[in-house]
Amino acid sequence: MTDEWLRRAAALTFPAGHHLGGESNAGTAGTFPVISPRDGAVLTEVPDAGPAEVESAVRAARRAFDDGPWPRLEPAERGRILLRLADLVERDRDELALLISLEMGKPIKDSHGIELRAVINTLRYYGELADKLTDEAPQAGPDALALVTREPIGVVAAIVPWNFPLTLATWKVAAALAAGCTVVLKPAEQTPLSALRLGELGTEAGLPPGVFNVLAARGRAAGIALGKSPDVDVVAFTGSTEVGRHYLHYAADSNLKRVWLELGGKSPNLVLPDAPDLATAAATAAWGIFFNSGQMCTAPSRLLVHRSIAAEVVDAVVERAQAIRIGDPLDPATEMGPIATARQLASVEEHIASAGARLRTGGQRLDRPGFYLQPTVFDQVTPDMEICREEIFGPVLSVLTFDTLDEAVALANDSVYGLAAGLWTADLSTAHRVARRLKAGTVWVNCYEEGGLNVPFGGFKQSGNGRDKSLHALEKFTELKTTWIAL
Ligand code: NAD
Repeated sequence: MTDEWLRRAAALTFPAGHHLGGESNAGTAGTFPVISPRDGAVLTEVPDAGPAEVESAVRAARRAFDDGPWPRLEPAERGRILLRLADLVERDRDELALLISLEMGKPIKDSHGIELRAVINTLRYYGELADKLTDEAPQAGPDALALVTREPIGVVAAIVPWNFPLTLATWKVAAALAAGCTVVLKPAEQTPLSALRLGELGTEAGLPPGVFNVLAARGRAAGIALGKSPDVDVVAFTGSTEVGRHYLHYAADSNLKRVWLELGGKSPNLVLPDAPDLATAAATAAWGIFFNSGQMCTAPSRLLVHRSIAAEVVDAVVERAQAIRIGDPLDPATEMGPIATARQLASVEEHIASAGARLRTGGQRLDRPGFYLQPTVFDQVTPDMEICREEIFGPVLSVLTFDTLDEAVALANDSVYGLAAGLWTADLSTAHRVARRLKAGTVWVNCYEEGGLNVPFGGFKQSGNGRDKSLHALEKFTELKTTWIAL
C-alpha cells in the first residue's frame, strides 16, 4: 500500500503558478523551494509573490466583486458552483491528500481520511447553505417597513497556516464565497501546493475569474501587503497569536478592515476522579496531543488530572505514546508523521531541553532523514513553567495534578489562551457546571476534537475572535444593512 502511494507521488505534477484572475500565473518575483518534512528534500519550486502579484490578486478580486457577477448571482447558483467544487475535490481527493502529506508530513490516512473529508464537507455545507439564508423584517409600526439585510462585505484576504492547510482555508473560503465575497487566499509558505491546486479546481468548478485567487509566498511580505491593502475589506486569519496581533496593526494603519483571528491555544484537558472510563480518557488525551504531531491549535497540551488517579492515567498515556507508530507519512500504517519544518522541530526541541519538569517518555528526534520527533510526556509540571504556559505546537504533553475542582478550574483558566478544553466526568451536573466555568470557545465533555460543520469554532481571550464553521462564520463576511421605509 505504501508502494501504491509512492507510485502516485512520483507521478504527481505540482502546480507551477499562482492562481490569479482564473489563470495560472508564474509571476515575476522568482521562486522558492517547497521542502518535504518526510525526508528534508526539495519537492519542487513554486513562484514567490512580490508586490506586483499581490496587487494583481487584490485587483482581480476587487474587480470581480465590484463589477463581476459573483456577488449579484442568485445565491442558489453560487451554491451550485461550491457543490461542484466539492465534487471536484472529491474526484481529486487522492492527489490533494498526497500534496498535503508531502508538503507538511501529515500521515496519508489522516490527510485522506480526516482533512480531505473535512474539506469536502465544508464546501458542501456552505454550498447547500448559500440559498437558505433569510433577512429580517423587524416590526416597525403601521407607517414604516424595516428591513435588515445581509450583504457580502467585499474582498477577503484569507491567510492560513500549514498544519491543516486545506481545512482551515476552506473554512474561510467556502463561507466567504457563499456570502458573495471574493477571495485572495495566501497559504503558509510551507504548504502552497494543495492551496494552488484548490484554486485551479475553483476555476474548473465555474468560479468566475478573480473570485478566488491563490498566492504562494515566502516570508511575510505578501501577508503584510494584504493586511495593509486599502482594497481588502476583511482579513480572515488563522495562525499564531503573535502574527494575529500584527494584522490588527496593519488594519489600524490602513483602512480599518475587519480582522478575524483564529489563533493559538494551550488547551487544558481535565480528568476528574469520576471520569466514566479512565482508559478512554487516557487514550484520548494521548491521541489529542500526538495527532498531527501535536501541531494542532486545539491540542490538549495541558493534562490536568486529579491526584488520586494521576498515576494510572499518566502511565496509560505514556504507554500509548510509546506504542505510536511514527514513520513515513505515505505509509498508511503511520500514526504520527514528522514535524512540518526543520525550524518547528528545533523550536519544539528547545522547549523540551528547557522544560524543567520530569521527562516520562520521548524527547528525542529520530535518527533518519526528515524531521521526526518522539511523542513526549512531562509530568510534575508546575503552572509557572514555560512548557505549561507557551504553545509548543508539537507532540509534547505537560501533566499537572490537582486536588479540588476549584483548583482544576483555576489551573485550566490560568492561560492567555482560551481556544478549547476537555473535561472527563460521569456526573451530569459537574459536566455542565464546570463547562460553564471554563473560558474556552469549545468544551468537549468525555471526548475531544469532536463536532460537525454546524457548530462554531474559535477562541476566547488571546485565542482570537469571530468564529469559523456553522452559520456564525457568515457574520465575518457580511455587513448588516438597515433600510427604513416610510410608507
Ligand atoms: P504563523 O502565525 O507564523 O503564520 C500564519 C500565516 O501568517 C502564514 O500564512 C504566514 O506566512 C503569515 N505570516 C507570518 N508572519 C507574518 C507577519 N509578520 N505579517 C503577516 N503575515 C505573516 O503561524 P504558523 O506557524 O503557520 O501556524 C501555527 C500557529 O497557527 C499556531 O500558533 C497555531 O495555534 C495557530 N493555529 C490556529 C488555529 C485556530 O483555528 N485557532 C488553527 C491552526 C493553527
